[in-house]
Amino acid sequence: MGGAIDLPGRSEAFIQMEIAINNARVSGRRLLVALLDIDRFYCINETKGTDFGNYALNIIYKRLTDAESAISKICSHTVCRFGGNAFLVIVEVEQEELNDWKMVEAIKYAVTQPIDDDGTELYLTASIGASLFPQDGHTSELLICHTESALHQSKGQGGNQVLFYNAEDTERMNRRTTIEAALRPALFLRQFHLSYQPIYRLSDGRLRGYEALIRWNHPELGAITPNEFIPIAEQNGLIIPIGEWVLREACKMLAGITKYSLSEMTMSINISPIQLMDPSFTHTVLNVIKEKGLQPYSIELEITENILSYSSETSISTLSRLRAEGIRISLDDFGTGYSSFSNLKQLPIHCLKIDKSFIKKMDLHSADRHIVEAIIGLVQKLGLEVIAEGVEYEEQYHLLREWGCNYVQGYLLGKPWEPTLIDMTMLRNNNKSQSIQTSEDEMALKAIK
Ligand code: C2E
Ligand code: CA
Ligand code: CA
Repeated sequence: MGGAIDLPGRSEAFIQMEIAINNARVSGRRLLVALLDIDRFYCINETKGTDFGNYALNIIYKRLTDAESAISKICSHTVCRFGGNAFLVIVEVEQEELNDWKMVEAIKYAVTQPIDDDGTELYLTASIGASLFPQDGHTSELLICHTESALHQSKGQGGNQVLFYNAEDTERMNRRTTIEAALRPALFLRQFHLSYQPIYRLSDGRLRGYEALIRWNHPELGAITPNEFIPIAEQNGLIIPIGEWVLREACKMLAGITKYSLSEMTMSINISPIQLMDPSFTHTVLNVIKEKGLQPYSIELEITENILSYSSETSISTLSRLRAEGIRISLDDFGTGYSSFSNLKQLPIHCLKIDKSFIKKMDLHSADRHIVEAIIGLVQKLGLEVIAEGVEYEEQYHLLREWGCNYVQGYLLGKPWEPTLIDMTMLRNNNKSQSIQTSEDEMALKAIK
């Protein structure tokens, strides 16, 4: 087993790239540049020690450079160490593109073959990013940069993947970086606001409450949808302060509405799995509800099944605690991702929201129509309530009512409503006879008629 290995490093990789580009220009050949990064290599170092890690890297380097290897048999190539556990492979390829995939597969094979570990076999995987000269860049800097970006994308997909550079991906990554930078000061600069979409009870057509939906208007970037910025906020942790702001703002609004309406309203608030893992989440929710003088059952937290792919034990116990305090929990987007009925038994929920993708197709005579009907029946047998979201047409509304669905939400009955200063003044000045509930009910009835 070897000590520290002496393989060409990053600066050497740039020199080799320059040489390869010059040679390719002279010969008129193309280049395939592949950056290979061993997945979860830190685990090897941690569990088997750095000596074994270096030994594994040496073996992979030998396989990549071996004159008898599949790679060498296809084309001439250069291999350089590129940072901790990555290798840069530069290959001169023929004009036809058929060999490009064969080449990266051969590179991948050098990693995935087992490594002997004192008589037992150790299996590794790698993420590979690749780019091509001349189409993806004419300089060594640009080619390496694009190859790194492809590798980054490939790692982001969970490892053991090969991805070729794609200009669109880079554009997407640039947009992501711009949004991430703009997101940091957005809360402090008061660039967020909430809009509220009504949810109606199907049995009597009356307003049940609202779902709070976040909006972000950036002075230069314009309106950025939550579908675009929430996943970024989840990755960089900003979802914690943003989520707390949403909770406060939505509860403040509900307190305002409750003051002037005749019956009790429910405010539904979207909660990210990251918030549920925050140890102070329960405390924050209970405090905000108390501060605003609300009843716990007037707050409904909307969660999605992906909480189960995070720290599910922590999340479930947080939800159970909140439920015990009287707060309602609903399962959003049911029917997307890994929906399963066994999750329904596992999660401490009161209510389930059927995803709009099902509702969209249910008025056609498709399987989705039967699926929606079956979900409503089954879920109610489990003692849960059902909300159908994305209801846009009367036919959908009538079918859902026929099937006994409890609540509906969608453009047919009301788009997300952005409270203006006038609405807020109206809320403050309105007496009970001109309650929001009454005007909303009228709107609903008009839409249904
Ligand atoms: P969601 O929770 O499924 O919210 C419903 C989305 O469907 C909203 O999009 C709403 O505007 C849209 N919608 C409502 N009715 C209809 C309809 O009839 N037809 C169609 N085609 N669409 C309809 P929006 O506001 O862009 O929100 C997108 C997603 O962003 C939400 O999906 C939710 O997952 C997330 N989100 C929004 N606000 C928050 C928040 O405060 N916190 C967190 N964590 N996520 C949020
Ligand atoms: Ca929702
Ligand atoms: Ca939803």
